[in-house]
Amino acid sequence: MLLDQIEKHRVRVLLNRVNRWRDRMRAMSDEELQNQTAILREQLAKGKTLEQILPRAYATVREADYRILGLFPYDVQVMGAIVLHKGYIAEMKTGEGKTLTATMPLYLNALEGKGAMLVTPNGYLAERDETQLAPVYEWLGLTVSTAFRKLSDSKGQSEKKISAAEKRSWYNSDIIYTTASGLAFDFLFNNLETEKANQYLRPFNYAVIDEVDEVLLDEAESPFVVANSPTVLSNLYQAADDFVTSLIPKRDYRLKRRDNAVWLTYHGVRKAEAYFRINNLYDASSREIYRHIALALRAHFFLKNGHDYLVTDGKVVLLDEADGRLKKGIKVSTGLHQAIEQKEHVDLTENQRTAASITFPSLFGLFNKVSGMSGTVKVSEEEFINVYNMKVIQIPTNKPVIRRDLPDKIFVTTADKLMAAINQTIAFHKIGRPVLLVAGSVENSEIISELLLNHGIVHNVLNAFNESREAAMIREAGQQGAVTVATNMAGRGTDIKLGKGVKEKGGLAVIGTEMLSERVKLQLAGRAGRQGDPGTSQFYISLEDKYISQASTARFKNYYRHLIAKKNDGKPIIQLHGPRIRFSLLMLQNRVSSNAEEARKQTNKYETTMKLQRKSFHEIREHVITSKNLEQTVQRWIDEGIDELLKRNSQKSLNEIRNMINRHFTYNDIEIPQPILSNPKQLKEFLKKLSNQILTQKRVQLINEEQLNRFYRKALLAAMDEGWTDQVDYLTKLKAYIDGWGAMGRDPGYIYQVRAFNQFEQMLREVKINTINKLLLSTIGINEKQQLIVSFN
Ligand code: ADP
Repeated sequence: MLLDQIEKHRVRVLLNRVNRWRDRMRAMSDEELQNQTAILREQLAKGKTLEQILPRAYATVREADYRILGLFPYDVQVMGAIVLHKGYIAEMKTGEGKTLTATMPLYLNALEGKGAMLVTPNGYLAERDETQLAPVYEWLGLTVSTAFRKLSDSKGQSEKKISAAEKRSWYNSDIIYTTASGLAFDFLFNNLETEKANQYLRPFNYAVIDEVDEVLLDEAESPFVVANSPTVLSNLYQAADDFVTSLIPKRDYRLKRRDNAVWLTYHGVRKAEAYFRINNLYDASSREIYRHIALALRAHFFLKNGHDYLVTDGKVVLLDEADGRLKKGIKVSTGLHQAIEQKEHVDLTENQRTAASITFPSLFGLFNKVSGMSGTVKVSEEEFINVYNMKVIQIPTNKPVIRRDLPDKIFVTTADKLMAAINQTIAFHKIGRPVLLVAGSVENSEIISELLLNHGIVHNVLNAFNESREAAMIREAGQQGAVTVATNMAGRGTDIKLGKGVKEKGGLAVIGTEMLSERVKLQLAGRAGRQGDPGTSQFYISLEDKYISQASTARFKNYYRHLIAKKNDGKPIIQLHGPRIRFSLLMLQNRVSSNAEEARKQTNKYETTMKLQRKSFHEIREHVITSKNLEQTVQRWIDEGIDELLKRNSQKSLNEIRNMINRHFTYNDIEIPQPILSNPKQLKEFLKKLSNQILTQKRVQLINEEQLNRFYRKALLAAMDEGWTDQVDYLTKLKAYIDGWGAMGRDPGYIYQVRAFNQFEQMLREVKINTINKLLLSTIGINEKQQLIVSFN
């Protein structure tokens, strides 16, 4: 608390300094104001820190915002901007103008010339904000771009592949507006390029993450994955699916929804062993079977159609838990997607090998400084401090919030709850108040829509099926008498403005129809009452809500059964009141949020291992891709590769050695002098000489040193990337494999680390051997344009 006060005081001191510049800036001519950029850059060059030039820089942008857009950032926005510069999180309510706030820290941090990024949850917002603000930055002499081809520019050429040069020009802009997922994919692809000329990213410097809780908490666990060549699709999916369908609850498996765990009992394990005709399910040789059973169990017991995914046109598409959007092109980790497809009896997509993967937390871990903003983060402050070392500072609203958040209405059954919410909607609709009705899932949004139609109420439905109309629907949502049914996605991004005469009627009414976490609830409530507008929010929940069933205790379940029994007796209790039930629900909410936090911690632990390995791998790769002379590296790797091969072929019969030479060095028949077989040193010398002979033969076909180096680079990178693809694939599978072990009382984190480390070492050794193959067994040539052509087998 005290620290909070000190921090806020510091922010106010800086705010005063910014304000002191206000009149001077106002008095300047356009030219003088534009010239501030040069002056500030010069001050930086002379050794001033960003913090020292902050007041002048912020005052400059503020005045430019005013002259170009007619918007002068309020004091509270400057405060938010100061928090963002410090690398903290600014909690700013919806409608307070976060877009404009970000102009100040982006401008300031871009002055160093290392780039400043604004990261939004979706491309629509990134493009909208960039288009709105580019005139300001450009007027001040900075370059700005989205990190993707803008929808408005891409007419007719959307199919054209984007060149590295084009991407590089985006990423070299002073200020970049982009999406978190776009950045993640670009990062992964950039790292898979084998020519420096095809890479387009420079080191990450500064980022402001919009809706930071969504990016760093809600989506922290789903990795972004780039898939490589498909691997063979195993028919184990079908077998595992059939097996799991045959299981008898309690006897064969146990389900602990609260811990998100499901596992086979002793009985279930025996059944599996009989079913798959194996001796021991936990034996290493049964790993794949175990993994497929675990996947099928998850698909059946934790993932629900209409909640976690949708089946459309015979395809399984994931839904984002947090906001109900479709996650197109994103697949759940290795195999789970196919397990769901099997469960839903649709065609299985090809199984892909993971070539590279990264989670948002580790992506943003690569930046020098990261800050964020959101309407509701204070409730997660502890986690932000513990995991990301980011403080959360609450920024006061420009005008006092007069919205009223009414206490939840608690019902026993879903049906009663929905009826009550619909009746309330009708009542508001009659007096002309606009209503935003929030459904817990896509499925429920369709049910609610049906119910409204039955009552003859015209309305819009905003869910994953009609995302494209989102902006238009949100624009209409504040008009008199408008009714909008939406999934949680309505909580983010676009601003609902009130239509004529709506203020007098009480403003927008947000009606929730599902129990949610405190943070998401606040997000949604915040759609109403922006910039001092009136408004209300109220949530209608029932004991049957998914949120409750996932964390319910035995006592709570008994209580529910008791209530249902009464209903069947003809004495139904519809609504629940009183402090006891409220307290129980509060406890339950705490339990759910700490479980979610625990799961994210575990994921971050796994990811830390991946991060370290990725880092050391890419250091080596960076050396290979940039070095102008790889001769020494080539010699050393060949040397180490030979050592490794000899270690593996310790028997060294003549046949073995001949085999080894044919597999790694040359397809030709080679005369091997018998006596060296028993002398390891001579044998190694022999192999080294052989490889140099083969390399020399290749060398004569090349035109110059540069071409030789290019050949080396291609060979080394091919070997490395194959190794890394295997490693990432292994780690992804290992995670899925080990995830279930926690329930059996073993520490998954520890097992993961040990295995991951061993496999990494093994991979590096494998790369050395593979380097020999790539260098010696490849064929090279020069085409008519004098370009090098290499083909590896
Ligand atoms: P948020 O993302 O915080 O919900 P937005 O950035 O979408 O808010 O801004 C909400 C609205 O407030 C926009 O229409 C914007 O033009 C307006 N706005 C923001 N800052 C100011 C300001 N300083 N003066 C006047 N209007 C502003």
